[in-house]
Amino acid sequence: MGFTHLVFGILLYALFSNVFQVPFGTAYPLLAVTLGSLLPDIDHPSSLISKQAVFSIVSKAVRRVTRHRGPTHSLLFTVLSTAVVAAVVLYYGQDLLISITFAIGYLSHLIADSLTRSGVRWLWPFHDGEASFVFHTGGLAEKAFFWGSLLGLTWIVQNLQMFG
Ligand SMILES: [Zn+2]
Repeated sequence: MGFTHLVFGILLYALFSNVFQVPFGTAYPLLAVTLGSLLPDIDHPSSLISKQAVFSIVSKAVRRVTRHRGPTHSLLFTVLSTAVVAAVVLYYGQDLLISITFAIGYLSHLIADSLTRSGVRWLWPFHDGEASFVFHTGGLAEKAFFWGSLLGLTWIVQNLQMFG
């Protein structure tokens, strides 16, 4: 479901850019939203991100201590990883918007996963119940979600003034 996450993440970033009138489509924020939307699945061996060079090593380490849709799929990790990204961004004297787009990507991943049957434990480790709505990963509903997001994104990019 990697590309679905990516498209949905960019869609939310496009919406955010439009609402808050921040530039859309610049390199670092796009990179950050890409990373954020794919990073939670570092806990799965065959995810898009776990197959990329450096991340495959991180993924092995992560999978040793956790299971799929465990801690990396929680608000706590959203905050922690965003703080790490913000620290890197500040260190290099870059715009903090980059870390915000990372958080948007990360949250978009949790939202999309919450739509599936296995759900997401948003409040881990404080509360172990998962939020879940019903659609099967890889099924027709996911395809509809993917194309819906892509269409939404195309519409936004074409119709709204975001490249400022
Ligand atoms: Zn996931």
